Amino acid sequence: MTKNIFDLSGKVALITGGNAGIGLGFARALATAGADVCIWGRREQQNAAAVADLQSVNPSVKIQALVCDVADEDQVAACFAETLRLFGRVDTCIANAGVASGINRFHEMSKDDWRGVLDVNLDGLFYTLRAAAAHMVQRAQAGDPGGRLIGTSSLGALCGMARAEHYAGSKGAVISIMQGLAVEYARYGVTANSILPGHIHTDMTDRNYQNEKFAAAIMPRIPVRRWGTPDDFGGIAVYLASDASSYHTGDKFLIDGGFFIY
Ligand code: NAD
Repeated sequence: MTKNIFDLSGKVALITGGNAGIGLGFARALATAGADVCIWGRREQQNAAAVADLQSVNPSVKIQALVCDVADEDQVAACFAETLRLFGRVDTCIANAGVASGINRFHEMSKDDWRGVLDVNLDGLFYTLRAAAAHMVQRAQAGDPGGRLIGTSSLGALCGMARAEHYAGSKGAVISIMQGLAVEYARYGVTANSILPGHIHTDMTDRNYQNEKFAAAIMPRIPVRRWGTPDDFGGIAVYLASDASSYHTGDKFLIDGGFFIY
């Protein structure tokens, strides 16, 4: 029988910020498709709830969570080593953990506001993908090439975001970084791509969507006429983690219900 090209059994996926929102949406679909899944998140309780959820989605795959603040270089190195100890390998690494803060006008933004976002969205992605790339190169040199590096960017990378220039800037950088990685690691069979969520209903955005003025301004500009959900990110995660996408690299996947083109 021909193998299903989206079958992920035997593959291991690591997702930062995988205990909630879009990251959990990635994780649920990857587990459903047969991948073993390791999620990293800052809060132990939320990690435990996500593990229970993921295990119920597919009881036959291995699910683990590690407490990790991706803004901390040493924690990322230690957690990556622990992930390898637990799973033996990482085939797909999704650097997804992110924070948003956008309240001050740009000329009033403090260095703490600026750093608070860049520390997680940019430095955290760097520490995470650096560890994953090192592991994938080592494996390729040992005769086992392949791997998937994925960064969660944002629609904001393309549109810019007034009063959240630090956030949109961090997400713009994700696209450039993933393009560089696509070229640098292609020789090891590793692909690198960015995923750009549009207006997705998660803890990060809930307050905005409860705001009638905001919702009234944005919703008419989304042709699909609804906020996105974490489940809307399952398909792209499975595609990118699977053998089906081995020739697809350096791309950005905008998942926004058509907002950008409307
Ligand atoms: P969310 O707040 O629901 O989830 C964010 C996740 O990141 C959580 O699991 C959280 O614990 C984790 N996280 C935050 N800081 C961390 C840290 N220092 N170390 C480890 N984990 C950390 O938000 P979401 O909407 O699911 O966001 C996921 C990603 O998608 C983020 O990178 C975000 O910037 C991006 N994004 C979201 C939207 C949207 O509309 N929701 C749009 C564009 C991009």
